[in-house]
Amino acid sequence: MKYYSINRNSPEVDFKTATIKGLAPDKGLYFPEYIPKWNADFISNLKNMSPAEIGFEIMKPYVGDSIPDDELMQIMQQTLSFDIPLKKIEENIYCLELFHGPTLAFKDIGARFLSRCLGYFAKQQNEKIIILVATSGDTGGAVADGFYNVPGTEVVILYPSGKVSEVQEKQLTGLGGNIHALEIQGDFDDCQRLVKLAFADDELQRLGMLTSANSINISRWLSQQIYYAIALSQWEENTLPVVSVPSGNFGNLCAGLVAQVSGLPIKHFIAACNQNDVFTIYIETGRYEPTISIPTLSNAMDVGNPSNFIRILELFGNDYDKIKEIISSFSFTDEETANTVKNVYKSTHKILDPHTAVAFAGLKTYLADNPQEKGFILATAHPLKFAPTVEKMIDQKINIPEHIQHIMNSQKKATLITPVFSELKKILQCIFNQVQVQTTIKPTNC
Ligand SMILES: *Cc1c(COP(=O)(O)O)cnc(C)c1O
Repeated sequence: MKYYSINRNSPEVDFKTATIKGLAPDKGLYFPEYIPKWNADFISNLKNMSPAEIGFEIMKPYVGDSIPDDELMQIMQQTLSFDIPLKKIEENIYCLELFHGPTLAFKDIGARFLSRCLGYFAKQQNEKIIILVATSGDTGGAVADGFYNVPGTEVVILYPSGKVSEVQEKQLTGLGGNIHALEIQGDFDDCQRLVKLAFADDELQRLGMLTSANSINISRWLSQQIYYAIALSQWEENTLPVVSVPSGNFGNLCAGLVAQVSGLPIKHFIAACNQNDVFTIYIETGRYEPTISIPTLSNAMDVGNPSNFIRILELFGNDYDKIKEIISSFSFTDEETANTVKNVYKSTHKILDPHTAVAFAGLKTYLADNPQEKGFILATAHPLKFAPTVEKMIDQKINIPEHIQHIMNSQKKATLITPVFSELKKILQCIFNQVQVQTTIKPTNC
């Protein structure tokens, strides 16, 4: 499988190069040269396969010769090492719980797959890979955990001091080891600016493989197809499901669409959005007008110009009518989201996080007009991740799952730096040169 840049101004590359580079040299997103068709036996046999076997079959054509089969199988076993149950919430509505991973978020799966692929490439080249990420809080945790203790990888995470939640900071700073948390005395924009400067710095580029792990990476994007197949492997109803996806950058939904094009039997998709409604407006009018994002309760979906929109266009050859036929989209206010959390809790005792609540509201709205259908929502985060907000809505404490207790009790390990590029550069040089960066050592002494 080759990958081309959507801007069509870069050479085609294989899976390994596309994964390491993230973005093509012309700044375009990578896209597979064709969408493989799954054979009917695979689809009818889903129920008898383990999650790792399903993941292997789906990713094999995309990975090609970049990773040998036995290694890919091992990567899949490590990636999918926790439960992903499909549970009934109420009549006709099921929920795929993608939040039982180490950071309680669906992003764990893509991040774990990417980290293990990069770990394999580092081992193969006998070279260190440094992963440099800026986070406003949420994605950083999944990346940090995904790479923790993966040999050959060092992760440098920049986060804005005082601007992430307590749980998020624990997830970024509690691990240590090959995870280096840099607490930036500035805001998220400063973090992003510093990361961009590092990628543009020739001297750093010459030191070794420097890569980002952001959500546009093909390894994170395409591995999300696995969610949908795992859901189908548990689907017992006799109609094809309608799937509601809480969407921000649209990587998740776009992966579901790819799976459907490959042959996965899904009836219809719902792009469930908060008040950041550019996509909903696009489905209604055919016009796509990106804007600045507005803050909402489901803040991981506060995106005014979704980066994967262009991949959806690419997948359907810019055919608006086709896109509209396959996807419906609804947007909800914070008040509607909060009411959904409350009502679902009252009637079923299930606690939804705000993102999952948006997906629930989306499916409910669709089923009101299409009462003969049944479907499932993707639960993208555990409610604990948004505990203060959700606890207020349901007037109830949320239990901390056993497997994250240790992170909640961990010591903070972070280096506080000013938002000046030379400071970041020194730290990156240290890591490339195998010098241990410790919280107590000022970067200048490194
Ligand atoms: C990132 C995220 C989303 C949005 O996913 P996209 O693939 O960007 O559309 C939804 N819910 C949660 C909890 C997230 O962290």
